[in-house]
Amino acid sequence: MAARNRNSVAPSPSSESQMTYSRFMELFPDNDACLEYLKGRFFPDGTVCPKCGKASKFHRIKGRSAYSCQYCGNHVYPTAGTIFHKSSVSLQLWFYAVYLMSSTRCGISAKQLEREIGVTYKTAHRMFKQIRTLLSDDEEGPLSGEVEIDETFYGGKPRAAEKRNKRGHLRRKHRPSVVGMVERGGEIRACVVGDATHATLSKVVKEFVLPESMIFTDEWHAYKAIGREYKSHRRIRHRSKIYVEGDNYTNTIEGFFGLFKNGVRGVYHAISADYLQSYVDEYAFRYNRRNSDQPMFWAMLNRVRREARASS
Ligand SMILES: [Zn+2]
Repeated sequence: MAARNRNSVAPSPSSESQMTYSRFMELFPDNDACLEYLKGRFFPDGTVCPKCGKASKFHRIKGRSAYSCQYCGNHVYPTAGTIFHKSSVSLQLWFYAVYLMSSTRCGISAKQLEREIGVTYKTAHRMFKQIRTLLSDDEEGPLSGEVEIDETFYGGKPRAAEKRNKRGHLRRKHRPSVVGMVERGGEIRACVVGDATHATLSKVVKEFVLPESMIFTDEWHAYKAIGREYKSHRRIRHRSKIYVEGDNYTNTIEGFFGLFKNGVRGVYHAISADYLQSYVDEYAFRYNRRNSDQPMFWAMLNRVRREARASS
């Protein structure tokens, strides 16, 4: 029997819901299999050759990570425009790193990647950083319906001096914060901001939440004016120790923050504020695909080439 057509490993509605280690090794036993996958995805038979303009097949060039057009011999590189291009790390190790990141619910540290694939810590760190750059859902469209909004500090508890000198709502102002917005039953958007002032929050919320939405927040005063621009605004009185009143709650977004913070504490220990957004993106990416039939592995791998994403 003919070998299984590798192009058929492309994500499809029928792809298995689980991506196990043995399945991974079956699909991607070596670098060539990974390259074939990328070729099948970016240059399937009948792709118009960028040089001669004919619908061509591209044949593998022996000993190189390239394919050539059947008519004019133009070379194409399936890794061009991907995070894998010109990397000294082998393609299979890259795929495996994507697999590792996709197969955990609460993240995986660079330290663990270092141990698993035998690269230096620095390389492992850089690989995960690169993969995370693919995971932003910013361009996926705004939220609507019932939307919970909340923000949380980053960078630990306020220092004693801050506690003594300022009231709670002042402390809230000038620290890097994560603003999270979640459509109930839908997706999340989360972004890192320099403070939690009205001006900052308003800008972010307007960008990600449509005006016809019902929004749910806590009592933080910055939300008051924001609420006037929405169909309705309900505020939960956390200060009065009330957390749920009927459908008035922000537990969904708080749950997300809880998951994120536990992950950062348990897996990453501490992360630099510079990288905070990419870690937030990683968690939001998982959250947004929690009910998806498409395994996370394929969802991540689908994004390795940015141009391809924009045009598909
Ligand atoms: Zn050609």
